[in-house]
Amino acid sequence: MSATEPTERTQRNRIERFDPTAIEPRWQRRWAELGLYDTDLADDSRPKFYLLTMYPYPSGDIHIGHWYVAAPTDAMARFHRMHGENVFLPIGFDAFGLPAENAAIKNKIHPRTWTMSNIDNMRRQLRLMGATFAWKSEVVTCEPDYYRWNQWMFLRFLEAGLAYRASSPVDWCPNDGTLAREQVEGTDRHCWRCGARVEKRLLDQWYLRTTKYADELLDFTGIDWPEPIKIMQTNWIGRSEGAEVVFTTAADEHQSGCDELRVFTTRPDTLYGATFMVLAPEHALVPKLTHPDRKAEVEAYITAAGRETEIERMSTEREKTGVFTGSYAANPVNGENIPIWIADYVLAGYGTGAIMAVPAHDERDFAFARKFGLPIRRVVAAPDVSDAEVAAEMEVAFASHGEDERLVNSGPHSGKPARDGFRDIVAMLESQGKGNATINYRLRDWLISRQRYWGTPIPVVYCDTDGIVPVPDDQLPVRLPDTVDYAGSGNNPLKSDASFVNTTCPKCGGPARRETDTMDTFIDSSWYWFRYLSPAEMGAPVDRSIEARWCPVDQYTGGAEHAVMHLLYSRFWTKAMADLGMVHEREPFKRLFNQGQILGADGERMSKSRGNVQDPDELVKRYGADAVRLFLMFMGPWDQGGPWSPTGIGGISRFLHRVWAAALDPHGVEAGDPESGVLPAGQDKAAAEKALRAATHRTLRVVSEEYAELRFNTMVAHLMELSNLLQRYRGTAVAGTQAWDEAIRLTLLMLAPAAPHVTEEVWSRLAEARGEAWSSIHTQAWPAVDEAAAAENEREVPVQVNGKLRDRVTVPIGIAEAELERLVLARPKIVAALDGKQPLKVIHAGGKLVNIVVR
Ligand SMILES: [Zn+2]
Ligand SMILES: [Zn+2]
Repeated sequence: MSATEPTERTQRNRIERFDPTAIEPRWQRRWAELGLYDTDLADDSRPKFYLLTMYPYPSGDIHIGHWYVAAPTDAMARFHRMHGENVFLPIGFDAFGLPAENAAIKNKIHPRTWTMSNIDNMRRQLRLMGATFAWKSEVVTCEPDYYRWNQWMFLRFLEAGLAYRASSPVDWCPNDGTLAREQVEGTDRHCWRCGARVEKRLLDQWYLRTTKYADELLDFTGIDWPEPIKIMQTNWIGRSEGAEVVFTTAADEHQSGCDELRVFTTRPDTLYGATFMVLAPEHALVPKLTHPDRKAEVEAYITAAGRETEIERMSTEREKTGVFTGSYAANPVNGENIPIWIADYVLAGYGTGAIMAVPAHDERDFAFARKFGLPIRRVVAAPDVSDAEVAAEMEVAFASHGEDERLVNSGPHSGKPARDGFRDIVAMLESQGKGNATINYRLRDWLISRQRYWGTPIPVVYCDTDGIVPVPDDQLPVRLPDTVDYAGSGNNPLKSDASFVNTTCPKCGGPARRETDTMDTFIDSSWYWFRYLSPAEMGAPVDRSIEARWCPVDQYTGGAEHAVMHLLYSRFWTKAMADLGMVHEREPFKRLFNQGQILGADGERMSKSRGNVQDPDELVKRYGADAVRLFLMFMGPWDQGGPWSPTGIGGISRFLHRVWAAALDPHGVEAGDPESGVLPAGQDKAAAEKALRAATHRTLRVVSEEYAELRFNTMVAHLMELSNLLQRYRGTAVAGTQAWDEAIRLTLLMLAPAAPHVTEEVWSRLAEARGEAWSSIHTQAWPAVDEAAAAENEREVPVQVNGKLRDRVTVPIGIAEAELERLVLARPKIVAALDGKQPLKVIHAGGKLVNIVVR
């Protein structure tokens, strides 16, 4: 035992100042020694609570953003433990990735050395927070014992047809090589990592068949995720029902035979309104369909279009351009021959590179038809539109949505509701072999090949005899070689290591070459929470019996910026693992919470160049970890973030000092304050005790809810209010009574999850003063509300609007009129009853009734 152990503190002055830097490291050591937070995953005597926070990338520094997600998460963990749950809060490092490689090129440090020394520093910084991470379950993804399972699962995916190699045009960053579609950002299509303009290249690459799960990924039943994330994933998957329709080109003196032009449309109900077709200038049939007399004009147009970006071409703003090919195609529903144009607003890479133009119901087609004098035929009308209006010339496209609308000018389908027309026209096309119902998805398979060193080697070899040969399981992991040449940036460094590249074919024993691409590092994070459960398991990625007990993750916390990457990949990967029998659960995270972002004091995003970065280490030195944790929770709703306030943290620090003083020096008074140590006028000791008990239990009631619902900011505010009351009664006849002791005890217990060190210190000093053995505050049960005590000073107040009873609200007796009014006007029932009207007058009737008068 060191000299600072609680049992040796008897001689200390009890009103010693609160010095967080003296107590925090001591308690952190002691919690670790006691193994207070080593979760026994085999213990099924208590309900489990798997709490996961997004593991950090080892960039080298834990910044305030890491604290902003981890500190409230730790408070949640401690709160659940006090409710008797078996809580698992693991941590690890997302250790592969580009920055390590860039550092290697720039500073001539091996990526492993750079990564591991960063991890060491970050472990130290994370410990400063006093978070209850289960360090014994730590996972570091660049370790062979981790990435061998990436390889093993890749091989299982390959066997199951979920992984495949294909040649296709890929998004290519000149600095970073291949990118996943999700990694191309913005309308100018730049690289998410370096910002460079992304190009298209034709390459042989590895893909994972995420599209196989498109429909299941659209189903969010059973998981409680923020609405914006669900919407982003739904839009990203982009399921649309429609039809593929076959138009047939008309033979004429210039063309022998007919060709089929396939188009995809989400609105087959508008097929009678198709008055022309548009092909992308790059469409393969353009040369054949172009009449000799149109050839020069068409070729000039194609050349011009080739110089434009997709973004320029897709813009709805710009003037439409295009040329007529001279050919026609038959509309399959009515046999009408419609002209075939080419225009740059149709892109070759999207759909079939051909569209049927329905100018009456599409803005761009409308603009095009107007410019080139092509017919516009309305085929959908709102139910209340007259025949005359239907026949009138259209001034703008009618962007119909198909609901409640009816078809017009549509042959036998005229008069039908658009929805029925959709179904019947598709059925008609199918019966004639001119089309079929299809479902289109925006989602593409996940391109995982990266021309990078610092990632998981893809475990296949190429043999001249046998082609692609998977590396046998007993040869896993395919280890990253230590010595490679990084200098050749833009080219895969693994190619430079002949001893890695040249190998023997596992099938024929002949010479073979290893795959030199590595896996997208998003694979590492697609399943890491499974590995935490059995990090030493050598027979499988995760021990299925432990997974069965602990998955899915009960609560996941982290940034919303991962909506269509990590959070979508994880769902895909979990479903694939489940289908391959590796796990039971099909969804990874039952409940997801996205915290907001901490901004600099200037309201701008924190960045070194702006000089507005808050270094958590400095703050801990100055105020202590508890004050930093509490302040982050207090500054606003957790999902909103907000600007850092240098003065706000001072207020939090003073609050902790007040709690310290009230608990350890209950009879002390504030010098120079005439109110200090004197009961409020008109309140005797008995009334004051009742008031204190009522306030304490009411606070407990609301704080319990706020912890459970992650409303940490109001939780802290309520504890501050209670501490103000303690401050008011400090030094009076109430101090030291049973009611007082109970208020102190409950305040400490309520504050313990959020400010674990100071509460532990005070708790141990109080136990010692009573001559009791120390037992950590963090192993205590969460206290129960004494409803009778809480109701003591409360009253139910009926609330009327214009004399009519609308609501009842329970408030403390003696509540200030302004406070009561604020509370009442915020009640949902009252808001509804007022219906936006401003109250003319609010009548209070001595706090026994509220009547709101409106016009
Ligand atoms: Zn890049
Ligand atoms: Zn071979």
